[in-house]
Amino acid sequence: MAVVVHKYGGTSVAGPERIRTVARRVARAREAGDRVVVVVSAMGDTTDELIALAGRVTANPPDRELDMLMATGEQITAALLAMALGDLGVPAVSFTGSQVGIITDSAHRKAKILEISTEKIAEELAAGNVVVVAGFQGVDHRRNITTLGRGGSDTTAVALAAVLGAPCLIFTDVDGVYTADPWIVPGARKIGRIAYDEMLEMASLGAKVLQARAVEFAKKYGVRVEVRSSFSDAPGTVLTGEADDMEDMVLRGVTVDRDEAKLTILHVPDRPGIAAAIFGSMAEANINVDMIIQNVSAKGFTDVSFTVARDDFRRATAALEEVVGRIGAAGMTSDEDIAKVSVVGVGMKSHRGVASTMFSALAREGINIEMISTSEIKISCVVEAKDADRAARAVHEAFGLGRREGDA
Ligand code: ASP
Ligand code: MG
Repeated sequence: MAVVVHKYGGTSVAGPERIRTVARRVARAREAGDRVVVVVSAMGDTTDELIALAGRVTANPPDRELDMLMATGEQITAALLAMALGDLGVPAVSFTGSQVGIITDSAHRKAKILEISTEKIAEELAAGNVVVVAGFQGVDHRRNITTLGRGGSDTTAVALAAVLGAPCLIFTDVDGVYTADPWIVPGARKIGRIAYDEMLEMASLGAKVLQARAVEFAKKYGVRVEVRSSFSDAPGTVLTGEADDMEDMVLRGVTVDRDEAKLTILHVPDRPGIAAAIFGSMAEANINVDMIIQNVSAKGFTDVSFTVARDDFRRATAALEEVVGRIGAAGMTSDEDIAKVSVVGVGMKSHRGVASTMFSALAREGINIEMISTSEIKISCVVEAKDADRAARAVHEAFGLGRREGDA
C-alpha cells in the first residue's frame, strides 16, 4: 500500500461542515488503497485571532508563549478531523507535531525542522489508522513548542512526505498556482506544471499558495507536490524538476508582495566596514534583509536602503537606531507603503529582453520604480503600494501571460 500525504489549509477546515467534507475525501483516498497521513492548518482565521488575543493581554507577548498559543489552533483541527473520520468508520488518530517527533531548532515563530522520526507514524499506519498531524509546529531539543512561520503547515506536510517517501497533495481554497493572483489580475491562468525553483521564487515573492520553505523541502528531496482545490476534483498544479520544454515559456508568473517595508539610512560615511555593521546588526537580530541599494557616493557620504519583512520592521528599526549612532550616519527614514512586483520564469535564462519588457510596461503606466533586484530566474521592482496591482496587470499583459483562446 502506498503512503500519501494530504494537507488541508485553514479555509478548507474553517467549520464543522468543511471538516466533515475533508473527512469524506480522506476516506475515499483510503478506500482507494492509500495509507493516508493528513496535515491540517488551524480553522479559518484562528491563528490571526490567537495572535490578536495575545495582543489584548500584553503589548509584547514573548515568542515562546506565542508559539505555545498558536500551536493550539492546529491541534483543535487535528482532533476534530480524527473524530469526523471515526464517525465515517475510518480509524484515525491525531497528534501534535511534537508527538510525531518533528524536532526543530529553537527559533520561535520561524523554527526550522531539524529531524523527523517516522516511527510513530509508521506504527499507526501499520495498524490501519489514518494519521492526522497538527501542522505548523514542532518541538525543540529542550521540549519547547515551536512554530514554523506563517503558512508553515505546508512545510509540515512536505517534510513528512519527504521522510515517508510519499507524494504530497496540498488541498487549498484555490485550484492551483496561477500566473498571477486572479483577484489582482483577472486574466490570470492556472499553471499545469511549475519547476521547483520557479515555485520557490514565486512563494518567496508573495504568491501565498505555498510556504517557501515547503518548496525548498520538496526540491531537496524531490517530493512530488500537487496544489489543488479541496472544493473540487479538478487537477491542480504539479511541482517538478526543471524540464527542457519549460524554457519555451519566457515567464511562469507575476507576483505582488506587500509584506515588506523599506528602511533608509541617510548620509552614511562611505568607507569599508559600514555595510558589515548595518547588516551585521540585522543578522544578529535574526532579521532577513531582502533588497539592498547603496547610492553613488557624493562627498564621501551615501544613502543605504533595504527592505525587511513587515513582521520584523519594528525590531529592525530598533536595532538600526543603535547602528546609526555608531557609524555616524545622519539618521534614518522608513517607508511601509511599498510593494514588490516580480516576474519569475526559468525561461529567462535563455530569453533576452525580459527586464526591458518589464520596465517598459511600468513606464507606460507611469509607475516609478524605487528598487530593482534580479536573479537568474526573476526580476523584482519595488513600487509605491498604491501602484502595485496596476503594475502587476501591466506586466502580466506585456508578457502575454493571460488567458489564451481555447483555455477553459
Ligand atoms: N495556521 C498557520 C497560519 O495561519 C499555519 C498554516 O496555516 O499553515 O499561518
Ligand atoms: Mg494558512
